[in-house]
Amino acid sequence: MTVNKDIDQRFDKVCQTTPVIDCHNDFPYLCRSHLHYELHSPGTKFDFNTVLNSQTDLVKMREGRMGVQFFSCWIECKDPDYLYDDFNKPTTVVRDTLEQIDFIKRLCLEYPEHLTFVRTADDAYKKFLEGKGQKISITLGVEGLHQVDLSLAVVRQYYELGVRYITLTHNCDNPFATAASSIAAGKADKGLTSYGVQCIEEMNRLGMIVDLSHVSHKTMIDVLRVTHAPVLFSHSSVYALTHHERNVRDDVLEKVKQNNGVVSINFFPIFIRQHGNQDATIEDAVDHIKYIVNKIGWDHVGLGSDFDGIPHGPKGLENTSKYPDLIKKVWEVTGASDEEIAKLMGMNVLRVWKDCERVSAQLEKLETPLVEANWDKRDWVFPGYAATEFPEIFPGSSKLHKNIYRFSDKLDNNPDVEE
Ligand SMILES: [Zn+2]
Repeated sequence: MTVNKDIDQRFDKVCQTTPVIDCHNDFPYLCRSHLHYELHSPGTKFDFNTVLNSQTDLVKMREGRMGVQFFSCWIECKDPDYLYDDFNKPTTVVRDTLEQIDFIKRLCLEYPEHLTFVRTADDAYKKFLEGKGQKISITLGVEGLHQVDLSLAVVRQYYELGVRYITLTHNCDNPFATAASSIAAGKADKGLTSYGVQCIEEMNRLGMIVDLSHVSHKTMIDVLRVTHAPVLFSHSSVYALTHHERNVRDDVLEKVKQNNGVVSINFFPIFIRQHGNQDATIEDAVDHIKYIVNKIGWDHVGLGSDFDGIPHGPKGLENTSKYPDLIKKVWEVTGASDEEIAKLMGMNVLRVWKDCERVSAQLEKLETPLVEANWDKRDWVFPGYAATEFPEIFPGSSKLHKNIYRFSDKLDNNPDVEE
């Protein structure tokens, strides 16, 4: 008992200077599917400051001592066949991602007493300290490069809008990288593509954190070879304890240590259950954290619940109010120092975020050019009049690329051509 009391007191003290940081929460997707983001339409009774049926609300988050939340801007792979490989198919995924970003910012404006949108690691920490436990710094992650469609320009604009990490894949391959789900389905592991390498360069240049949750084993290894900045696994657990293709294998953990990155443990029962159990408990989450600590040390572990992207949490770790229970249990079984427990709670993630900003600043100093490249298999499709009616910028410019021109009898697609 005295041990527990001691830990309660130590936890309260550490919480004064250490935010609980969660790297992955899908609550915005619930607001997409249930509310179409309409918080004030007649019949909507949304109040984030009350206890909701979701795993996330402000009451639970405050109880969970949260200081920083990465809300996930997740839009699913649009093709019903997740093993599709025609990446030129048009989708609405960029619009839908922008709506998620817009919604999260609106949510912050609705609850200015409790939520504040932040753009830098220092700002996130500063606002947490100023808020004295009442204010949560909010930032964004985009869950899959399918959400940038085919374009590095979209990566850049997401950064402008405040997105601070992008997961390289969700449960589908894209022109940049191979997903773990494709390997689970028996496909070959192609890892990171050459366009993917260019994307990592651009993310490093921007200061966008590279998130390796959801990607294949080879993608993880490839990225860890080329990135100049530490990586994040925003919501992934340990493969050695739970054999799921999404989890992180020992050889990758060793490389994460060298890279100075962080693995934020996912609470989803199917990623952490052990010994053939169908379900999981808070002890399983403790085991996954302990495993990383024993293997590569306290500097490389964090929290990435996946709350509200999972049907239910493990027993004892059901929602955003339960982080203190988890942290205290880890404390009890490991006998960690205050400083070590603070790293798990959030300081490791802040360090990785800051390191990515630092690498970006260094690359800027070196005048590293922006990556202009496009995906080489992208279809550039134009109406026929674009080939025949418009002047060339300079002689031969219109013939530089293999554009696809769709000629039709009618010119009425062109608003400037009168018949
Ligand atoms: Zn996910």
